[in-house]
Amino acid sequence: MDCLFCKIAQGQIPSNKLFEDDKILAFYDIDPQAPVHFLVIPKQHVDSAAALGEQDGELLAHVFATIARLCKELGCDNGYRVVTNVGEDGGQSVKHLHFHVLAKRSLAWPPG
Ligand code: C5P
Repeated sequence: MDCLFCKIAQGQIPSNKLFEDDKILAFYDIDPQAPVHFLVIPKQHVDSAAALGEQDGELLAHVFATIARLCKELGCDNGYRVVTNVGEDGGQSVKHLHFHVLAKRSLAWPPG
């Protein structure tokens, strides 16, 4: 499958890595929308959050626990936002599940 984030996960395309283990990779977004903006992806391909099921609970717990730890390490003490875009209306441009983590500025709500 010709998937950009699969290639990043496999190290075929370089990324600015924050953390990785056998299940997930966290790397800085190339087009940051906040002073801290990184992405967390599962290494195994999943199209989007719409493809997640009950069997993915452990993976998701690991993703969110990792996000909490990284945000603490990065000093995001004033809070942060976790976003996952799904499909065209959701604004998903890369068809591999990813969680945006944005911090260190006050984020508006609702999003555009
Ligand atoms: O949610 P969406 O699919 O639009 O987000 C994709 C994100 O992947 C974008 O924020 C984009 O800047 C990022 N990206 C990246 N490295 C690439 C290609 C895209 O960080 N090589």
